[in-house]
Amino acid sequence: MSFKIDTKCVQAGYTPKNGEPRQIPIIQSTTFKYDTSEAMGRLFDLEDSGYFYTRLQNPTNDHVAAKIAELEGGTAGMLTSSGQAANFFALFNICECGSHIVSSSSIYGGTFNLISVTMAKMGITATFVSPDCTDEELDAAFTENTRAVFGETIANPALTVLDIEKFAAAAHRHGVPLIVDNTFPTPVNCRPIEWGADIVTHSTTKYMDGHGAAVGGAIVDSGKFDWMAHADKFPGLTTPDESYHGITYAEKFGIGGAFITKCTSQLMRDFGCIQSPQNAFILNLGLESLHVRMPRHVENAQAVAEFLHSRPEVKSVTYSGLPSDKYHNIAKKYMPNGGCGVVSFELVGGRGAAESFMKKLKLIAIETHVADARSCCLNPATSTHRQMNDEQLEAAGVPAGLIRVSCGLEDKDDLINDIKNALE
Ligand SMILES: *Cc1c(COP(=O)(O)O)cnc(C)c1O
Repeated sequence: MSFKIDTKCVQAGYTPKNGEPRQIPIIQSTTFKYDTSEAMGRLFDLEDSGYFYTRLQNPTNDHVAAKIAELEGGTAGMLTSSGQAANFFALFNICECGSHIVSSSSIYGGTFNLISVTMAKMGITATFVSPDCTDEELDAAFTENTRAVFGETIANPALTVLDIEKFAAAAHRHGVPLIVDNTFPTPVNCRPIEWGADIVTHSTTKYMDGHGAAVGGAIVDSGKFDWMAHADKFPGLTTPDESYHGITYAEKFGIGGAFITKCTSQLMRDFGCIQSPQNAFILNLGLESLHVRMPRHVENAQAVAEFLHSRPEVKSVTYSGLPSDKYHNIAKKYMPNGGCGVVSFELVGGRGAAESFMKKLKLIAIETHVADARSCCLNPATSTHRQMNDEQLEAAGVPAGLIRVSCGLEDKDDLINDIKNALE
């Protein structure tokens, strides 16, 4: 039987048998006991599936990963300790020294740093392209060593919207997968796999948890990318892994299982960025109401964006739900029910106006965070982008007077009144 996404949010990933706990049990155990060493040996050889050490797999995490995989319409999923770890693992699972990545330039600052600085130190280079580039510009970014294309459905903090079909088509023309970070819309508002993405990643820290309680990440494989058809590009998946008894992942686990099995048995084994079972449990509580919360985040953000748009103190508003927004039409295509609860706007008075505006807010708190139940805001010029001067900020598309507001789940009239008082 197949269920709608709302039902999957509540129930997917865990089906208790007779007499078992109704809620996903927290298996707070590092290790698992076996009667014979032969039985355990078969697990180590990936001959049987089962648990032996929580760094590799844990039942609580697996239930929650299975739910996220179902929500995204993928064949397999895994949890990681953070969104940063999810994006690193998704890329490094198919890249090695000498590989090249094509990435949208409009991505989360932490991911930009990961790709452009830290992965560069590993000998993995990248070419960044505008999310608005033409097919020709996109094609020109590829080299013979390109192994992946990367982008964010709705970029944090720029709020640009990725043309997933355009990026997927380019990736596939060049025989590599498209990896999409779908943190901001969540699968409730967009499922990138339905538009051609091959791998989906998440910072579950944001809307999926939704309560600002637990840092976490997730990776989902669509099971659609044929590694064997491009075997020379992805030897890690298509040739024997000597560190795992000569297993060839794409042969043994097939098109739907190879990517996540390799990612677990190599990268999680060696880097150990696991999510704690306790955090996976908290994440699942968030997932159970994700489909109820997302429409409210969108409703509040739409109302706040429209209010800001009507005010003389506001120079510009960026929110794809506004008909005047550059990404309005493309957002309507990929996210007909709306995108997310994050709005950004620039005050006429620049840096000084932003500072005094934020000081006067009572309900909307100043935080380095987005996407939880409580509304919060940030002025990048005085926080995350503090090292840049006003000209550099302008060039980076983050003018000094820019404020990013994450609309929570409060009453929208209270949010608008808080903003109105601060503006006046
Ligand atoms: C926050 C965020 C990340 C990083 O996630 P962490 O859980 O903080 O490590 C990655 N991508 C996007 C789009 C984000 O918003």
